[in-house]
Formats: sequence, structure tokens, C-alpha cells
Amino acid sequence: MAPNAAHETTRVIAVSRLLVVEDDETIGSVLESSLRAHGHQVGWQRTGRGALHAASETDFDLVLLDLGLPDLDGVEVCRQLRASNPTAVLVILTARTDEMDVVVGLEAGADDYLTKPVRLAELLARVRAHLRRVAPVNPGAHPMLTVGDLVVDTGSRRVTVAGREMPLRAKEFDLLARLAAAPESAISRETLMAQVWDENWFGPTKTLDVHVAALRRKLAGMAAVGAVPRITTLRGHGYRLEAPRGS
Ligand code: CA
Repeated sequence: MAPNAAHETTRVIAVSRLLVVEDDETIGSVLESSLRAHGHQVGWQRTGRGALHAASETDFDLVLLDLGLPDLDGVEVCRQLRASNPTAVLVILTARTDEMDVVVGLEAGADDYLTKPVRLAELLARVRAHLRRVAPVNPGAHPMLTVGDLVVDTGSRRVTVAGREMPLRAKEFDLLARLAAAPESAISRETLMAQVWDENWFGPTKTLDVHVAALRRKLAGMAAVGAVPRITTLRGHGYRLEAPRGS
């Protein structure tokens, strides 16, 4: 299945590998879970040495680096990360309002900075902008399909709502992935049957209705967790996945 027919209407991004370097447990866990909920692979290190070790094993796409670390000078960590991961986007976080930290950090190879207290919405927007810049959409990669708080990971075949997993049967997953590949678009029953079940399928489509009903139940069950899209029936045609209001 290739849910890449509708890039214009879909937020398709390749999975990005992010590293959070933060010794503050509260801030670190908020950053980690928020970035995960947005479909990223996220590692979290609490020390400079841990960060350098992790970066020696993985090519990260983006690193969020707190400058005030317990073991090493954050600016020196920044310099070494830049040397070991030349293509990574480095964003420094500093509690200090001293402009010198920012200047020194940028000179040490950082691409951007955010001052604490970090506003989560701003951080997520910056991360998204950086990742879009460095990693343009690659239709060949397994896309992450995002509609509201729903994330369909077509690589791992996992579906989450605001970071919480929504277990699905194989065909339920295929159907949701097809709908999520073109949110707000009308998709005919024939198209869904052909692409989700069998290319040469000509019989009645009761099985489609059963799977849609199951998906609706499961999506409704996640409504308390986050903003979930809904599946609208288009009489005489098919279905349309609609983003939650306000998203
Ligand atoms: Ca710190």
C-alpha cells in the first residue's frame, strides 16, 4: 500500500531522530513525551557525557541541548556534538538570560536557541521548521500521517493518539492509514476496497462498513486522550476522514 497519493492535503514527514539533553527531570520528560507524541523518535540524556556517547552511536537529526549540565560545560558539549554530528540541527536551551551564552553557543556550532522557561508550542514549531528545512518530504520513506492528535506510523504500523497507543487489527490499520493519507478528501468505497482489501475485488462491501464501525468505536474510545479525527459517511460514495475541530 502506498498512501502517498495526496501530499498536498497530508502532513507527511519522515521519522526524525531527536535527542533531548536535559538534566531537569520535569523539563526533560515533558520535552521527551511531547516530541514523541508528535511522531518523532526521541532519546533523552541527562548528562553531557551521556549525550556525547549517544551521539557517537546515532546520527541525530536534531538535538535540544540544555547548556547547564551537571558534568560538562554545555558549550563544550555543543562543540563536540557539532564535530561528531555535522548534519544535526543543534538547538541550545539556556535558563540564563545572559546573551553571552547564546553568542558563545552559536559560535560553538548551535543553529538556534530557546531561552527557559521554554514555551512548548514555540519549541514544537521551531523543531518542525528546522526538520522541514533539513529533511524535505521523502515519498520513498515510511510516512508518519498526522491528523489532529492521531499519528499513524506506517513504518512500525502503530497508531497513537497524543502518544498513547491505539491497538488495531491489520485491516483496520490499513483502512485508517489510507483515510489518513488524504484527510478531508472524499474516498470512494471502490477505492478503499481496491486499495485496502484486494485490487480485483468486486463483491459487496459490507466488510468495509464493519471495519469503519470498528475504527469509529476505537477512535471514540480515545477521545478523552486527545483530539481524534472522525470518519464521515458520504452517502452513495464512500468516506472522508475529518480533522478534529480547532486543530
Ligand atoms: Ca540544566
